[in-house]
Amino acid sequence: MNIIKNLVSSSKYNIKCPYPMDAQFIVVHNTANDASAANEVAYMISNNNKVSFHYAVDDKQIVQGIPENRNAWHAGDGGSGKGNRYGLSIEICYSKSGGSRFIEAEKLAAKFIASKLKEKGWGIDKVKKHQDFSGKYCPHRTLDMGWQRFLDMVQSELNALKGVDKVTEKNVPSSWAKEAWEWAKKEGLLDGTRPKDNLTREEFAVVLKRLADKK
Ligand SMILES: [Zn+2]
Repeated sequence: MNIIKNLVSSSKYNIKCPYPMDAQFIVVHNTANDASAANEVAYMISNNNKVSFHYAVDDKQIVQGIPENRNAWHAGDGGSGKGNRYGLSIEICYSKSGGSRFIEAEKLAAKFIASKLKEKGWGIDKVKKHQDFSGKYCPHRTLDMGWQRFLDMVQSELNALKGVDKVTEKNVPSSWAKEAWEWAKKEGLLDGTRPKDNLTREEFAVVLKRLADKK
């Protein structure tokens, strides 16, 4: 996943991200604006407001403005609030006017969030909304369109990512079978491919003959 970094200068850490952070969950926002992700981040890191977020996602790209190991001011729950101190914040762009740009931005955000969940070994329960922390109606358009609908989008992206892993695992024998598998390969009884496939009767006959011929 291609992520463009436009990180805030460390000279502004005291304003934008004063605390080290070990993120515990993701907080989803809508920008309530019509600017691109690049512009949202450029504006955020250039002003001196105590407002910040880790990532902005639009219909084309993901832009990072705050390092993941620093906190950001996005959840509206104060200096020691859980959202502000432990949340990895993601802004979905173009929510003011909506339309196809927003639809595509939400899709890319769902993909990105799924990749974060996978990277961190988290489940869908780690995806929170701004509203959970301060009561603000954010992510407003995502909420209008259905929060559960968005969570389902993230879950299906996560399932797809895990599916890719399953295909890879298919080519590796299980740990309990590894020794026998290697032995059968070395003895020339099996060709060493497709460890998880079913065995047909004719394949079994071939293996029996190979075994008998060895004597
Ligand atoms: Zn928000």
